[in-house]
Amino acid sequence: MTDTIPSTDTLGSSTGGFRSKDVRTDDAVWASIAREEKRQQDQLELIASENHASPEVIAAMGTALTNKYAEGYPGRRYYGGCEFVDEVEDLARDRARELFGSERANVQPHSGTQANMAAFMALIDPGDKVLAMSLDHGGHLSHGHPKNFSGVFYEFHSYGVEKGTERVDMDQVRDQAKAVRPKLLLAGASAYSRPLDFAAFAEIAREVDALLMVDMAHIAGLVAGGVHESPVPHADVVTLTTHKTLRGPRGGMILCPKDRIVKINSALFPGGQGGPLMHVIAAKAIAFREAQQDSFKAYAAQVVRNASVLADTLTEHGIRIVSGGTDNHVMLVDVGSIGLSGAAAEDALHRVDITCNKNLIPFDERPPMEASGVRLGTAAITTRGLDEGDMKSLGGWIAETLKAPEDEAVIGRVRGAVAELTGRKPIYH
Ligand SMILES: *Cc1c(COP(=O)(O)O)cnc(C)c1O
Repeated sequence: MTDTIPSTDTLGSSTGGFRSKDVRTDDAVWASIAREEKRQQDQLELIASENHASPEVIAAMGTALTNKYAEGYPGRRYYGGCEFVDEVEDLARDRARELFGSERANVQPHSGTQANMAAFMALIDPGDKVLAMSLDHGGHLSHGHPKNFSGVFYEFHSYGVEKGTERVDMDQVRDQAKAVRPKLLLAGASAYSRPLDFAAFAEIAREVDALLMVDMAHIAGLVAGGVHESPVPHADVVTLTTHKTLRGPRGGMILCPKDRIVKINSALFPGGQGGPLMHVIAAKAIAFREAQQDSFKAYAAQVVRNASVLADTLTEHGIRIVSGGTDNHVMLVDVGSIGLSGAAAEDALHRVDITCNKNLIPFDERPPMEASGVRLGTAAITTRGLDEGDMKSLGGWIAETLKAPEDEAVIGRVRGAVAELTGRKPIYH
């Protein structure tokens, strides 16, 4: 992990070498950073919302662009000296539009939640009704959690998955849309392993005279890589994060048709944010170019294949997967099916250097801090080169660990196997 900050010569930079390692004098902070880099190298990252950005993406964030105030948009800024950050933001916007086939893009959101805030502000008024996926069934906290701004300022109603299939049933969504009459219909989730039918959502939105917003935070990289249907042709606004399957820097983005961009832009700035993070926007531009390459298409396809093999392997070991499997990068593992809580499963896997998060499963009877599931994703482990064969091994190790979480011999053996694999598959060469 010594190469996460490339030296200036590898970047061909003329910025005077301040980016070289010699600048590091704050031992306390750098020691923690080094420990975190080693943790990432030594553990298998199965948190479905995480990934390993490329050295070039990471390098862009460690540049002097962080110094620049650029409130406004390219060509119309409130500060002088913006000519070069304008170039960067134009590159990011153009590449985003090309990548997703969208008429317009706003690349300034600091996060996915702030992208959503701007989208709500642009599309509806405070107090208006929104129909979104239930948080207990895989929705995101910015989709109406009572303590989040969304739940505070708007009237959220929710649809969920059906009890038997554990999938979203569009007839149920339609019935609820007709009963609630929302101003905004919201599709998108943080823990849902099946495709959402964007065309059907658009049709329902039209039927009840609502706008359609799609939050594709989790699946953006799969959409960019061409292995998931795109919501862009169907939605009035699409929001996303750039750091999950899309594998860019931490941040958000908004895509929309031409006739909506003025409202979106002013809802984001000055509506919800001040100055943009130009160093992060530079990193977004780099990530979008990476996502346009054939190698990224191959990556996205491998993410989905890996998830499918991992889910099948766990099933073969007698562990139930919610809805019976996955079509994307994420799966919900019902560890209650083998008598564990999600919290206990997360702890056991942590002890063998496999990182994941406990997660409610639909109709969960345990409280959120215990939960009956863990959420697993394959975006990060696919970045470091793991394939179907590795997924079979990994599924076996997870099953062994979860079936004997107190057995020190099992824990030791699995931890050793994980160490061998992470040693063989470094994140950064
Ligand atoms: C991750 C996520 C977000 C927001 O991400 P942050 O950048 O953490 O604010 C929004 N919506 C969905 C569906 C997500 O999964």
